Amino acid sequence: MGTILIVAELKDGSVREASYELAAFANKIGGDVKSLVIGSGVAGEAESFAKKGGGTVYVADDASLANYNVDGYSAAIRAAIDASGADTVLISNTPTGWDVAPRIAAALDAAFVSDVFNFEDGAYIRRVFNGKLDARVKVAGDKAVVTVQPGALPAFEGSTDGSTETLAVDTSGARAKFVETKVAEAKGVDLTKADVIISGGRGVGDPEKFTEVIQPLAEALGGAMGASRPVVDAGWLPHEYQVGSSGQVVTPKLYVACGISGAIQHLVGMKGSNFIIAINKDPDAPIFEVAQLGVVADLFEVVPALTAALAEAKG
Ligand SMILES: Cc1cc2nc3c(=O)[nH]c(=O)nc-3n(C[C@H](O)[C@H](O)[C@H](O)COP(=O)(O)OP(=O)(O)OC[C@H]3O[C@@H](n4cnc5c(N)ncnc54)[C@H](O)[C@@H]3O)c2cc1C
Repeated sequence: MGTILIVAELKDGSVREASYELAAFANKIGGDVKSLVIGSGVAGEAESFAKKGGGTVYVADDASLANYNVDGYSAAIRAAIDASGADTVLISNTPTGWDVAPRIAAALDAAFVSDVFNFEDGAYIRRVFNGKLDARVKVAGDKAVVTVQPGALPAFEGSTDGSTETLAVDTSGARAKFVETKVAEAKGVDLTKADVIISGGRGVGDPEKFTEVIQPLAEALGGAMGASRPVVDAGWLPHEYQVGSSGQVVTPKLYVACGISGAIQHLVGMKGSNFIIAINKDPDAPIFEVAQLGVVADLFEVVPALTAALAEAKG
């Protein structure tokens, strides 16, 4: 068994949930687990991560690392690989991960396996062809950089005996300088965190019907609204509501697809949901192939009736 290095990611000063998922993933692979926490003033978070699955946590703590920049972070990751002797590096498949992971793989001449969601019998498993097939990838060399889908595994829970070590990083060669972060105005909920999603497609017909029909059911179930791409392309809802290959990949407990045909680009974003209900008036709609419960009917009859029944049940 080799050594696995988890590159933790921080958001607003805290280690992200996705990094605790990497800790669970590292346990699944099996080996000596070590981690890296990068930032400025992050010693406390590093201590806490060491006790919750991070193992020995290297801390690259420097004012120049307060904000992500690819040169500084690459230098920190390479220093941690040298210090830990890691042969497998786990990075979350997030925008930061997309940016830094291939660079590390290229610099180490290591195998690069991206966007995996599982590990079985020595192989990493990733979806290909828009989710139609699963590829099992075995690493041929002795080093690998692997990016893991957020939400693929439950986060590590429990406590471990980890400790922290300060890591000196030379960031003087950074060729990019952080200027500022502009946070986009939040218009909706974070669909990746919702337990219940009521999604509408082109069959909903117009934006007002989302407010009149879809939203009340989402509210009655304490859930969020989602949408297929034509809804977003038509400007009925903002892009953060879009589920699918060019939108969000969601795994709620309950996903209700209303007036959505079930194109592969939509399915790839929601078929990992725990329970799927499809409401569509076309009995041959492909969405029924992934649904546990299919309702062949007009959504304008079924959805308001469901909302009313829930209101009645709540008294
Ligand atoms: C590169 C690429 C990326 C893409 N990314 C995405 C993506 O991220 N997400 C995504 O969703 N799509 C994506 N698409 C588009 C995708 O291919 C489909 O075109 C899209 O998902 C179809 O959306 P829809 O199901 O809402 O519409 P349609 O396919 O038009 O289906 C509408 C459905 O509503 C039903 N319906 C109509 N009226 C009613 C009613 N009154 N009651 C009940 N049912 C009714 C119809 O029977 C039909 O099945 C992408 C396409 C490409 C090429």
